[in-house]
Amino acid sequence: MITRRIALAVFAALVATGPAAAQARLKVIASFSILGDLVKNVGGERVEVGTLVGPNGNAHVYEPSPADSRRLADAAVIFVNGLGFEGWLDRLAKASGSKAPIVTASAGIKPRERAGDLDHDHGRVDPHAWQSVANVKIYIANIRDALIQADPAGQGAYAANMAAYLAKLDALEKEVKETVAKIPADRRRLISSHDSFGYFADAYGIAFTAPQGVSTEAEASARDVARIISQIRKEKISAVFLENVTDARLIRQIARETGAKIGGTLYSDALTDPNGAAPSYIELIRHNVRQLAAALMG
Ligand code: ZN
Repeated sequence: MITRRIALAVFAALVATGPAAAQARLKVIASFSILGDLVKNVGGERVEVGTLVGPNGNAHVYEPSPADSRRLADAAVIFVNGLGFEGWLDRLAKASGSKAPIVTASAGIKPRERAGDLDHDHGRVDPHAWQSVANVKIYIANIRDALIQADPAGQGAYAANMAAYLAKLDALEKEVKETVAKIPADRRRLISSHDSFGYFADAYGIAFTAPQGVSTEAEASARDVARIISQIRKEKISAVFLENVTDARLIRQIARETGAKIGGTLYSDALTDPNGAAPSYIELIRHNVRQLAAALMG
């Protein structure tokens, strides 16, 4: 009976993957590496995912190439974060002549408005919604819906892939909450380079302050930096963090002037390459929470 059930399951799997193997895979493009990883997890074998802004790349200041334009022209679906993250995308898509739908993965999340306490970013929406695992559950539902729209025959596969990934996200979310719970409440404060962890902060109860705003286009002003330095001293903030997409010099200067220690590198807007600390979304979140817990408790 059990053998028969396994045989049936194997047969069902063959039927499910057979057509994809026979046809060309659905070509899609994601605007940046983190989103590309989410699309791969939902798309699985049926989908070939390319990304425009690659590992360790900064989407805020990205300059698209002619090759990017050709890749958009070839794509069946274009996935973007939205919330103003990819200011260069619409022009690029238009220039490419692409007829592919542009799918906003963050559609339906509750956007975080910038408080406007920095010299720039007044009234801007924070695009870094993926820093909350709960938001990413909404992203992957949008991705699933768009893939089914483009490839209805893959409906079962996309739904199954999403369910499997959702279970991993549930486990990740639990791990993040448990790790943060171990940090004494009065130590849950830190400094990062740019304001990219607001959704993480709101979801998990860690206070982040940054000299640069929600985009890295504008340099931090002398006033922003002075304000951060006095805040570190007043609130006895123990750790400052580097990011993989921003210049390390400003954070090193702040550490020198305040005596706060550099707690390591946090990954905000991009994955690392496969040999780095954050080659996937799940590893990125796990690395960040472990790194900040180690620095804040140490
Ligand atoms: Zn950013």
